[in-house]
Amino acid sequence: MIQLTTAATLTNAINKARSAKPRVRVAKFGRYTVTNKATGATYTVECLKREGKRFAHCTCKAGERGQACYHAAAAIGLTSS
Ligand SMILES: [Zn+2]
Repeated sequence: MIQLTTAATLTNAINKARSAKPRVRVAKFGRYTVTNKATGATYTVECLKREGKRFAHCTCKAGERGQACYHAAAAIGLTSS
């Protein structure tokens, strides 16, 4: 589970998402599929709120370890802000 705190902690993920430009599709509310266009790898990102804090979960290796990954940044739309 990735805790989404300040933008600063997510900077690397956001920058990577901006350059990788993965394809994001909404699977259902709060659930996204993120596809790496270069490799075709698809990961599922889920977003949730717990006690007022936002979390994301991604099925990639970094996400499984609780590290902010660019899939989560892309899915949440952080790249547009
Ligand atoms: Zn990921």
